[in-house]
Amino acid sequence: MGRSQATAHPDVVIVGAGIAGLATAWRLCLGGMKVTILDPNPARAATWTAAGMLAPVTELAYGEAHHLALTMKAAERWPSFAEELEAAAEHSIGFQTCGTLYAALDAGDATELKRLQAFHGTLGLESSILTATETRDLEPLLSPTVRSALIAPGDHQVDNRLAGAALITAVERAGVHIEHAFVTALDGGASWSAGRDNLSLPGFSKSGGFVSEAPRIRVRTDDGSFEAPIVIICAGSWSPLIAGIPDPARPAVRPVRGESLRLGPGSGESLAAARQPLVSHNVRALVHGRPIYLVPRATGEIVIGATSDERGYGTGVLAGGVRQLLDDAREVVPGIDELELIDTSAGLRPATPDNLPLLGPTVMPGLLLATGYWRNGILLAPLMADMLASYLLAGEQCPQEYSPERFSTPAGSL
Ligand SMILES: Cc1cc2nc3c(=O)[nH]c(=O)nc-3n(C[C@H](O)[C@H](O)[C@H](O)COP(=O)(O)OP(=O)(O)OC[C@H]3O[C@@H](n4cnc5c(N)ncnc54)[C@H](O)[C@@H]3O)c2cc1C
Repeated sequence: MGRSQATAHPDVVIVGAGIAGLATAWRLCLGGMKVTILDPNPARAATWTAAGMLAPVTELAYGEAHHLALTMKAAERWPSFAEELEAAAEHSIGFQTCGTLYAALDAGDATELKRLQAFHGTLGLESSILTATETRDLEPLLSPTVRSALIAPGDHQVDNRLAGAALITAVERAGVHIEHAFVTALDGGASWSAGRDNLSLPGFSKSGGFVSEAPRIRVRTDDGSFEAPIVIICAGSWSPLIAGIPDPARPAVRPVRGESLRLGPGSGESLAAARQPLVSHNVRALVHGRPIYLVPRATGEIVIGATSDERGYGTGVLAGGVRQLLDDAREVVPGIDELELIDTSAGLRPATPDNLPLLGPTVMPGLLLATGYWRNGILLAPLMADMLASYLLAGEQCPQEYSPERFSTPAGSL
């Protein structure tokens, strides 16, 4: 399919080219749809700031056991997705089956890790407790104060920045048109009213499959407009800010800011030695009650994260955030002092009221959401893209528990 054809009469316009939008665009395009994706700055935002952990076990919070079916399935999807993406983009995305170590720095932490491991056991999750000696045998450069650790051998990582770049290449090679434009508003489309009966796709024939003579939604940008029968909002934390979305369809998403740091060997004399990462697993710990993680890339770089606060839409990196992350990380791996600080970044996690994603149709015919991936967006994106593609290409329902409808409010009540 030629680029101009996709631009002139797209079947689908996707708003936002973070990992959610790019993965969705790729699957839809491979399925035969003509896709245009609009974003002034593709693959930056939270997709750029993230650490890239694919960690359903160690990311699991008490009270969120019902998230596991989704996150475990998402983790299973990653190896084949990574292989396919690397082949399409012709470069590595740094997918590593490295496992995760959760280190205990004091007796209280050690007790807490035992409790966590018991919780994992009740859910049938793979994790075990290591003694201090066993922990140091695996990770000799952890702080000597480490008392024990929990190991989750199935929690892995991908280099999210390489994955974002690879997705841009893959979608363009597949025929997706990426337009560097900022979406200001939607208008048009079929008339709508709130109600379950209206959760239908204007582009489907009765026999299944997509037809594109349906009413079109106009997507206005800072530089013109695009039209398509299907519009998918993948604008992360900014999704609710787009004008023209009727209140009952407005994404129930709020921004939760987080900072991450990248440390690396730099260009010093001991470069060859320093290129060996200081740790080989993803390492997590609690320091004075604050969670910290260090995610080692094969290049010797280490990603340190993450702060968490709710301050609206600002993405400036705060001095206090950098100081806290560095202080806490060196309590766990003192050797980070010898690395160069090569990058600081802040991103907005798109959070929903129940921490589950928003996936599928809204009450506005033709308008779909694929957002609200919260703190697991890198992990979830491939699976979510598959689900949306199955819906649009084969008419398979998206899981009801992720339906945007669950937060739908009557018109005018927001
Ligand atoms: C510090 C930090 C660490 C994290 N670590 C992990 C991790 O280890 N593992 C994990 O799975 N997840 C992690 N996450 C979460 C993950 O980054 C997000 O869930 C994920 O990036 C969400 O992807 P997205 O595409 O929905 O949003 P984003 O990546 O934020 O992308 C949204 C895109 O929409 C575009 N956009 C916005 N408004 C408009 C508009 N009006 N018009 C056009 N385009 C628009 C933006 O330019 C942007 O490109 C982390 C997040 C943070 C902040």
